Amino acid sequence: MYVCIYKHMASPYFVYGGSVVTRSGGRRTPLSAFQSKGNQKPSNVDGRPPVAVKAEEEEAAVSQPEPSAAPLLPGDCPPPHPQTVVRAKPETDTLPPASTGRRRRQLKVEYENDEAPPLKTERWEPPDWRRQLAHIREMRKSRDAPVDKMGADKCQDPESPAHVRRFQVLVSLMLSSQTKDQVTAAAMQKLRAHGCTVGDVIRTDDETLGRLIYPVGFWRTKVKYLKQTSVMLQQEFGGDIPDSVEGLVRLPGVGPKMAHLAMAIAWDQVTGIGVDTHVHRIANRLGWLEKATKNPEETRKALEEWLPRELWREINWLLVGFGQQVCLPVSPLCSMCLNQHCCPAAFKTSPAKKPKAGSLHSTAHKVKPDPD
Ligand code: SF4
Repeated sequence: MYVCIYKHMASPYFVYGGSVVTRSGGRRTPLSAFQSKGNQKPSNVDGRPPVAVKAEEEEAAVSQPEPSAAPLLPGDCPPPHPQTVVRAKPETDTLPPASTGRRRRQLKVEYENDEAPPLKTERWEPPDWRRQLAHIREMRKSRDAPVDKMGADKCQDPESPAHVRRFQVLVSLMLSSQTKDQVTAAAMQKLRAHGCTVGDVIRTDDETLGRLIYPVGFWRTKVKYLKQTSVMLQQEFGGDIPDSVEGLVRLPGVGPKMAHLAMAIAWDQVTGIGVDTHVHRIANRLGWLEKATKNPEETRKALEEWLPRELWREINWLLVGFGQQVCLPVSPLCSMCLNQHCCPAAFKTSPAKKPKAGSLHSTAHKVKPDPD
């Protein structure tokens, strides 16, 4: 059966332009390729390269059942021409006994003259992201955004046992949804003063718990989730929090964003990018997504496609603070932003703030707008 290599290349090696191209896209000489793959001898007894001998042996096997075929002698079959036709043997193909008369399957590999096969598709990434990221780092270097002082990693009691600190991280993440960091931090302070362990939350009645966390967003729903989560942690996880994203998202009120952040903060494991509303908004504004996304979960998946993994932890902290101080949800301060000349969304949401030529943008990092 003859198959075009572009669709059905089954062997890990194929010959192109006198060299062997591996699946990983590298090229080697036929000699070195077959040496490494099959531990074959570097040359046959007659000194010809192994690839030629292999082709001959296959030809011989195919020709055996046909009496009219002329016996194959060494030297009858020349090495395959790289730009015409090369017969390659799939690794899994086994040679049937000659007596059965069955023809073995072979692949025909064809190349157009001088046309190289597509070896690798490059991964998409935003054209200017490194410069934009460097600007954001510059604007965030003072670390004075609310998230720097009151983020979930700051709301735990450092004197508590490790499993209690992990629980408090999870609670602060649950409270922080749709809530400003200042409000979450105040609620956590009251909760810790009352007692913030799994057992404490289970023993506290809903009304008291509501009073302690008020006015976080959706506080009634969060009271319910806190109670249900605490019971589940007590019964299934021995009072600790799960150490996997899969376990965490099973908890009531815990989604992927919280799970990835909890893994990073509580377990010191980076499992994904924590994408909240700030990260979602700014990634779209900066053009960091191949296509615009509709929600944070879509944004997380799209970012993880191209953003180097070593930046996954930092990116949440960087963009959240940047979103609290400069790239605000409504009327972002583009005139103060170092990215104003390389951001596709610059001044599109706040045209009135466009600076005059040669003005403010270099002082962006000195401006600390009220995040509220
Ligand atoms: S230029 Fe404006 S929209 Fe773009 S990142 Fe800066 S503040 Fe945000």
